[in-house]
Amino acid sequence: MKMDVKSLTKFEIEELCEQLGLKRYRSDQIFQWLFQKQARSASDMTNLPKDLRNELDKKIHITNIEPAGRQDSRDGTIKFLFRLHDNHLIEAVLIPEFYDDGVANRLTVCISSQVGCVFGCAFCATGKMGYFRSLISGEIVDQLQFINEVSLEKYGKKINNVVYMGMGEPLHNYDAVINSAKIITDPLSLGLSPRRITISTVGLTKRIKQMGDQKLPFNLAISLHAATDEKRDKIMPINASMNLKALREALIHYHNKTGHHVTYEYLLFDEFNDSIDDARRLAGIVKWVPSKINVIMYNNVAGVSLQRARENRLNTFLRTLRDKDITATVRRSRGDDIDAGCGQLAIREDQPKGKTMAKP
Ligand code: SF4
Repeated sequence: MKMDVKSLTKFEIEELCEQLGLKRYRSDQIFQWLFQKQARSASDMTNLPKDLRNELDKKIHITNIEPAGRQDSRDGTIKFLFRLHDNHLIEAVLIPEFYDDGVANRLTVCISSQVGCVFGCAFCATGKMGYFRSLISGEIVDQLQFINEVSLEKYGKKINNVVYMGMGEPLHNYDAVINSAKIITDPLSLGLSPRRITISTVGLTKRIKQMGDQKLPFNLAISLHAATDEKRDKIMPINASMNLKALREALIHYHNKTGHHVTYEYLLFDEFNDSIDDARRLAGIVKWVPSKINVIMYNNVAGVSLQRARENRLNTFLRTLRDKDITATVRRSRGDDIDAGCGQLAIREDQPKGKTMAKP
């Protein structure tokens, strides 16, 4: 059987080349063809000798993703649909932020790490699909390579910020996600700064500790969304097995090992988690380790009873945090006219539902 080289790490590609008796620089060339130049087969790798290309063609297989659709929001956000080799569909979003003169400044891409998701958070459209499969690292990198081309064309600038917050739970696909993050920081791929890459999780404590033990240079974001176990249990089934106490312990471990700050993402739901009491409890959580909070205004999802918080409740919430010396950044979801906001990504084709952990 042919080897799927786009699931390999750089080190494994080097090993493969060593087994084939190739000089070291050949593995760099192959890596670049795979993760920068989007080669579709070894025959595309024109700076390799012909007989080597033929030999590689017999041994390796290259999986690519195909663009399958695009929606442009009036605010400049673009949502992309990609088809995988087995016909599954995933989405990714390019979110531009502009200077006052209209020139693009920060170009953030929100990428998917799985087809669907097993964790079934009550507010999330992806969770409603259920879980189908995890992406290989090449399928994650390909989303960025493709969107980078669009970014250069439309905004005249490379993407410069990546968030693993699209479809799927990134730490549930740990190896592929970490490998993809290492690849996109490599100068032979996209050469992004590791500090501009954020990996988000609903709180898989074992994996958070692993990120700490491996001293990975990427940012960690926690999808918190509730400040008590009682409320978190209601909207995030993961909390039944990994509650706030376990999360606290994992984050302290992570911070002790890396010294990194943590970001909490907190979707504000009307009359659910937006009270003064919730803000006070959240302020307590923020003090576990050095961290910051993004309060996100939810984009309502069809069939979900949780609703976006009202402005007056948001303001009281923020004031309560400020009184406790906590500053929160408010993020208003972008691309809401194309369903590209936080928690809105999902493939709405008629398809049977995938595996779920629990019913929302
Ligand atoms: Fe999965 Fe994240 Fe959606 Fe929860 S919020 S269902 S973990 S994709």
